[in-house]
Amino acid sequence: MSDRKIALVTGGSRGIGRAICERLSADGFDIVFNYIGGYDAAMETKKMCEEKGAKVLAVQADISQSADCQRLIDEALVFGDNRIDVLVNNAGITKDNLLGRIKDEDFDAVLNVNLKGTFYMMRGVGKRMLRQKSGRIINMSSVVGVMGNAGQVNYAASKAGVIGMTKSFAREVASRKITVNAVAPGMIETDMTKALPASAQEKILDTIPFHEMGQAKDVANVVSFLASDDARYITGQVICVDGGMAI
Ligand code: NAP
Repeated sequence: MSDRKIALVTGGSRGIGRAICERLSADGFDIVFNYIGGYDAAMETKKMCEEKGAKVLAVQADISQSADCQRLIDEALVFGDNRIDVLVNNAGITKDNLLGRIKDEDFDAVLNVNLKGTFYMMRGVGKRMLRQKSGRIINMSSVVGVMGNAGQVNYAASKAGVIGMTKSFAREVASRKITVNAVAPGMIETDMTKALPASAQEKILDTIPFHEMGQAKDVANVVSFLASDDARYITGQVICVDGGMAI
């Protein structure tokens, strides 16, 4: 057991989650992260973080399942000698379509991962942080949860819900000096956005005042700040990392 603080990051195997794991490792955290199916990518993240001096535990877990979340948290507590200093609820999915074409199961799948997964993790880790009387929770929302987006009703509902949960839980735990904030990325270059057709990507670029996509590390930099001592008096906020998209 080292004296480094412990960060638990969901969806750390790829994209924004991997960049967060790497950045928090460089900041001096030991890392627990989960993945769902991407074992090889998870091992790559683990190696990157270890090269930055962190001890790392990678756990397979489906955050849409309450029991998996509890197992992930239990494993993190054993790894971290009963402490979790920072929770980053990053894992998320999309199943885009126009409202009239969204199937029941695609609505449920997005809500189950993005919204209920975040709830299960905040509930479990929040209990420990309340006992510790310290902790930082950072939830991944999206500009789509702030502004809405055609073709993403399910995703927008989940990400707006994350903002509502963030503000509500921030009020519940502020007296214990636990902070709960949300980060709302715009269009960030990851597997999630690579899946969009080139024509859709071009259209989105026109809506970004910077007229360029963001990088995963742009988001990780903000997470790093919110997890740091410098952010101790910031809670219940939504910080857009979006090149001006949501202005
Ligand atoms: P990504 O590249 O698709 O990676 C998603 C990550 O979540 C992977 O690590 C994946 O694990 C994990 N994951 C997916 N479903 C899971 C489940 N049921 N249980 C546990 N883990 C699961 O996504 P990203 O672009 O980095 O996005 C990260 C977060 O930022 C998401 O919440 C997303 O909504 C949000 N966001 C992204 C953008 C953007 O432009 N990229 C914009 C706004 C918000 P495996 O590798 O095992 O599949």
